[in-house]
Amino acid sequence: MPADEPRPSILWFRKDLRLDDNHALHAAIEAGGPIVSVYIREPVAHNIGPLGAAQNWWLHHSLETLRNSLRSLGTDLLFLSGEADRVLADLAGQIGSRSVFFNRAYERSSQDLEIVQTLKMQQIAAHAFHGQLLWDPQEIRTGTGAAFRVFTPFWNALQKRGEPHDPINAPSKIPAYTRPLRSEDLRSWNLIPRRSNWASHFPAVSTPGEHGAQQRLAEIIDRNLQNYRDGRDLPAEENTSHLSPHLAFGEISPARIWHATRGLPHTASADVAHFRRELAWRDFCYGLLVEFPHLHDRNWNGRFDAFQWEDDAQAFRAWARGVTGYPIVDAGMRQLWRYGFMHNRVRMIVASFLVKDLMIDWRKGERWFRDTLVDADPANNPANWQWVAGSGADASPFFRIFNPVLQGEKFDPEGDYVKTHVPELAKLDRKFIHRPFEAPKQVLDRAGIELGKDYPKPIVSHAFARERALAAYRALRG
Ligand SMILES: Cc1cc2nc3c(=O)[nH]c(=O)nc-3n(C[C@H](O)[C@H](O)[C@H](O)COP(=O)(O)OP(=O)(O)OC[C@H]3O[C@@H](n4cnc5c(N)ncnc54)[C@H](O)[C@@H]3O)c2cc1C
Repeated sequence: MPADEPRPSILWFRKDLRLDDNHALHAAIEAGGPIVSVYIREPVAHNIGPLGAAQNWWLHHSLETLRNSLRSLGTDLLFLSGEADRVLADLAGQIGSRSVFFNRAYERSSQDLEIVQTLKMQQIAAHAFHGQLLWDPQEIRTGTGAAFRVFTPFWNALQKRGEPHDPINAPSKIPAYTRPLRSEDLRSWNLIPRRSNWASHFPAVSTPGEHGAQQRLAEIIDRNLQNYRDGRDLPAEENTSHLSPHLAFGEISPARIWHATRGLPHTASADVAHFRRELAWRDFCYGLLVEFPHLHDRNWNGRFDAFQWEDDAQAFRAWARGVTGYPIVDAGMRQLWRYGFMHNRVRMIVASFLVKDLMIDWRKGERWFRDTLVDADPANNPANWQWVAGSGADASPFFRIFNPVLQGEKFDPEGDYVKTHVPELAKLDRKFIHRPFEAPKQVLDRAGIELGKDYPKPIVSHAFARERALAAYRALRG
């Protein structure tokens, strides 16, 4: 290579599968040399283990989309497997590169530091950028410089920082490295479930990749986030953004979303404020994870370590398959299995049911969600499970126990959500849609339901379960 020619740079894609508002990409272009883009399949994708099956499906399609976008800009995407530091160092040696550009993934902050150190020892500079969250967790701190443990003061501090960075647009061209390089075949990674067509309904909800993310954003902006604040709790309606899987894979930046809501008319201000608050919850959860990397497998509040969980495999299976006899719970769990997604309100209801009615350890629920949600997130998932369980930093008190019947009647008053996901109840009278076990025989007959055959009887009595959970909680408090 002639001495005056800029060396090639490596652009390492990870939880930032986008070209828009990608600071690492931007900086790599600024460096002036040709760019080799790579996605590395690591033995352990982040500190909580490999991605779940639903996310593997998403990842496959997202990587295909990213590779197509890179090709349309004159470059390509390599797929390589192994420990990131070793793969990056080998690649750098192969192409004579001295610099790696990447965006931080806060769930693996300590690992990132090690990678930077390893590369440095081999005279390779690692340049890390921000973009996964609205703000770097180090930038939103209490007056004493500590991390926030309660959301409301965190939210106040975040708002005081003003607007997050202005997003930068995708480049129109990327300088290509023209010599051939070895890449694995994405299909050989077997990310897509082979034997069953389990994921066949996933595309009905969202389209993996950056274009899908931008389309979603355009949709919510077009409708001015209408009815977000008041309607976001109604699972039968489409009032939320469905941006979560796109955010989980970094197909869109939260700063891009935040700024897109800036131009909405004043009439949308309450909806915008509430929506931004939810985005900030994501930052908050990441702050907790950075502070406590064991968020997924240890109680934040160590007092819960002594909690007497039930070890009931049969009840867990009924919950996971959506056959508990409580329609709103079953609808949620079946929505999850079929579409890889579940509405937020229903996530709270099913999680409360597992932890409080069945008294099954929240970690088992967290793992099930991690395997089946396309938006499974290393921060949001455990933080929200711990929130529901009462063991978290800013948690709902354990003694607040959702009644699945009343929750259903309040948030799915017509039973439309239940009827969509539990079709065997489709003909049941609205009055009993959330309590089929109380319906008189002739009402059930009219709806073509025999309880215990067409639809299960409740696996537990909520009144009994509530008392049992409260007693266990009282024992914990001593
Ligand atoms: C038990 C449980 C587990 C959860 N697991 C996950 C998970 O693995 N991944 C995940 O992204 N969210 C998780 N959530 C939070 C929430 O349910 C989803 O973010 C939301 O349903 C996604 O739908 P949406 O994009 O339409 O949300 P919108 O209402 O449109 O919200 C916009 C964005 O804000 C963020 N957000 C919204 N609510 C929360 C919240 N409570 N905590 C953190 N961020 C939030 C998400 O990134 C979301 O995409 C969980 C909630 C519960 C109760």
